[in-house]
Amino acid sequence: MPDRPPLPSALDLTRAQFDGWACVWCGMPLRKGAVSAGRAEGMLGEHDMSIEVYACPACAIAPRTPGAWVALRGRRDDGSPTGEGGGLPS
Ligand SMILES: [Zn+2]
Repeated sequence: MPDRPPLPSALDLTRAQFDGWACVWCGMPLRKGAVSAGRAEGMLGEHDMSIEVYACPACAIAPRTPGAWVALRGRRDDGSPTGEGGGLPS
């Protein structure tokens, strides 16, 4: 397994990342070939927000520089409200 940047806190995930729609590292929408990246952990008060997150094949094979996902944090993918999957409370 290649070296990978650490997973972000579950509390720092975008909605899309939290719901498994977007790569946890680069933020690209996941289509085919998403792989499990592990479990992002975080507590929101007494609620355990830990959740399994996914990465695109490019990141799984050749990880981006650590912190690359941070640059994408400001871009929340809220275009498709589904009412499912919970997501992070705002
Ligand atoms: Zn990626």
